[in-house]
Amino acid sequence: MAYSYEAPVSQSLFDRASVVTPGGVNSPVRAFRAVGGTPRFMVSGTGPYLTDADGREYVDLVCSWGPMILGHSHPEVIAAVQEAVSRGTSFGTPGEGEVALAEEIVARIEPVEQVRLVSSGTEATMSAIRLARGFTGRAKVVKFAGCYHGHVDALLAAAGSGVATFGLPDTPGVTGATAGDTVVLPYNDLDAVRAAFAAHPGEIACVITEASPGNMGVVPPADGFNAGLKELCAANGALYISDEVMTGFRTSKAGWYGVDGVRPDLMTFGKVMGGGFPAAAFGGRGDVMAHLAPAGPVYQAGTLSGNPVATAAGLAQLRLLDDAAYAKIDAVSAELRSLVGEALTKEGVAHTVSAASNMFSVFFTDLPVRNYEDAKKQDVFRFTAFFHSMLEQGVYLPPSAFESWFVSTAHDERAVERVAAALPAAARAAAEATA
Ligand code: PLP
Repeated sequence: MAYSYEAPVSQSLFDRASVVTPGGVNSPVRAFRAVGGTPRFMVSGTGPYLTDADGREYVDLVCSWGPMILGHSHPEVIAAVQEAVSRGTSFGTPGEGEVALAEEIVARIEPVEQVRLVSSGTEATMSAIRLARGFTGRAKVVKFAGCYHGHVDALLAAAGSGVATFGLPDTPGVTGATAGDTVVLPYNDLDAVRAAFAAHPGEIACVITEASPGNMGVVPPADGFNAGLKELCAANGALYISDEVMTGFRTSKAGWYGVDGVRPDLMTFGKVMGGGFPAAAFGGRGDVMAHLAPAGPVYQAGTLSGNPVATAAGLAQLRLLDDAAYAKIDAVSAELRSLVGEALTKEGVAHTVSAASNMFSVFFTDLPVRNYEDAKKQDVFRFTAFFHSMLEQGVYLPPSAFESWFVSTAHDERAVERVAAALPAAARAAAEATA
């Protein structure tokens, strides 16, 4: 596909990066391989906008893959960070900021009685799985195809997101022994979960699921699916782990738990709770968390865990996320969803705008999408054309058809109007695209 626009400064930075960094990026999906073209190197962000190294401004519908729920450079978050930095950047001791952030999480999310702070969502899910295995004395983990839980070895089986984008059948470097204890099942299929428990009696430590998946595109749980998982886990002595790294503090004040009320044994968080810094967490039932070192025998640690700057950013962001903030994000999301849907309908493009609270994505198919197999049936080439047209017109979408789009409280009418103005041409490009 030829692109009618150039990004010479980004291209030269990408050329430099490609010499010293594998593929030129520090996280694969940033490389634009799924859509082609030059990844944009961003130099600044303000509110709903990003500016790239060529001086072009974009309405940002990625929001750093979720964290920037107040938009970029929110003055109160920046002020909290500056205040924290002025006192030093890392002490390797306990500090009050991490206590305050833990208290905020516990106060918001009722099933979380205790929480441990870490630095990435990957660390959170890895640690939660270890804890579940340590607590139950069992080895096997059930996950769902298309759910991504970070690049934890045992969970890099049929993981969506970047793995979906690149179509890697499996991941070299993950041994058969590691992956052998992972049972991968189709999403939204309780019968498959029932069958797995029957096939491995007394062996399954936990079922981990994205609370509402956003890594195969947005595919919400069917009615009763999460409740069914919880019930099956309880009946079989396994823990139910809800991965809220993406949905946590985004889909409501209490994340997806605030939407469906299904009580997990353990939960994982990241993204929004770090305010744009590396902060993540896992937490849940007090009796399970009590097994974690130094209170209990399951080891887990981190040099920068509870970092004072990251916790200050996260706390400032969470404190600004009140009911009014969520109402605003939900409204902007609803408006954008209907604008996208109208534009694609007008051009006769088969599509489904799929939403879970304010997270949404567009599948270029009108067939129902209930799991990863369904998601893969979409016309990805139409997304590619749509993406590039939007990019050319100054709207930054996730560079993959298998990712959620994100909005923030900073997405105001002006930003929405800019997206609306770009949609007709993008929808036409999608209609005209060929495989
Ligand atoms: N879990 C989910 C649901 C995610 O979406 C992600 C990242 O996108 C992770 C875990 C991993 O988080 P991180 O990229 O911070 O390691």
